[in-house]
Amino acid sequence: MHIGFLGLGNMGAPMARNLLKAGHSLTVFDPFTQAVAALVEAGASAAASPTAVAKAGVEVIVTMLPTAAHVKQVYLGKDGLLAHVGQGVLLIDSSTIDPLSAREVATLATAQGNPMLDAPVSGGTGGAAAGTLTFMVGGSVSVFDQALPILSAMGKNVVHCGSAGNGQVAKIANNMLLGISMVGVAEAMALGVALGMDAKVLAGIINTSSGRCWSSEVYNPFPGVLDNVPAARGYSGGFGSDLMLKDLGLATDAARHARQPVPLGATAQQLYQTFSLQGHGGLDFSAIINLFRREA
Ligand code: NAD
Repeated sequence: MHIGFLGLGNMGAPMARNLLKAGHSLTVFDPFTQAVAALVEAGASAAASPTAVAKAGVEVIVTMLPTAAHVKQVYLGKDGLLAHVGQGVLLIDSSTIDPLSAREVATLATAQGNPMLDAPVSGGTGGAAAGTLTFMVGGSVSVFDQALPILSAMGKNVVHCGSAGNGQVAKIANNMLLGISMVGVAEAMALGVALGMDAKVLAGIINTSSGRCWSSEVYNPFPGVLDNVPAARGYSGGFGSDLMLKDLGLATDAARHARQPVPLGATAQQLYQTFSLQGHGGLDFSAIINLFRREA
């Protein structure tokens, strides 16, 4: 298929590469021209704007953008996708944004004859590169079926979560739990080490005991416990603390609308807010352990 792809960042670039590997032809746009050049080298065609992608004769458009403001600008702006895309072109937004914005954009797209799905992902940059992402998809079943072969080229688990916006609901609930669990693991690891434990031995105990979770086992925040995680490379790469802060904000905002209490999610949000204010928002989200480590 001929696919348009907008947003070639930490996640979008490897996802786009997997679409190329699966044999699709790609027309890509990102304001960061180096990101576009790297994809062109891998076989994609460059477009100069969202309008140019919409007019390139694509059958499907995938977007992977930072925030709801970017998504609204790219879809609803004067030079955006909806103003220029042909009827029937399938639109898939994989950015993590709030469910209400996702529903707003999908409603406008559907009304003008463009089927649309929200399809945020989990699995991180490693999963994006390996093509093993989990897609949480909101939209109608028939559009989901249409998108399945494309999403399967980028992910291993593609799950229909219900109507438009429900992919985002699943995503923000999961990421709120991830933020809470990372803060919990950071607190426990820092406590154990402050009381004299070796970090690697402590992580081994936790990971064979009842405190075990993804944040302790696969993505431990304490340096020296695991290789090939951000903690092993000065918290570079991975999932930025400011993106976690964004996701916790999405969860707490949605909770406020629903009058649903999320006390631990709100506490995690405040801790990431503090960390960001200290100037560390660009570090991977596991660096939150530096709030608790004496050495840091
Ligand atoms: P990123 O900041 O690395 O990449 C975003 C890209 O979007 C950048 O290259 C930026 O130049 C581009 N962009 C900005 N405005 C644009 C526009 N108008 N048109 C086209 N491109 C534009 O972010 P990321 O880590 O790739 O994350 C993207 C989304 O995926 C976010 O919503 C994030 O919350 C979510 N997410 C990230 C991870 C992760 O581990 N990084 C995991 C799951 C979900």
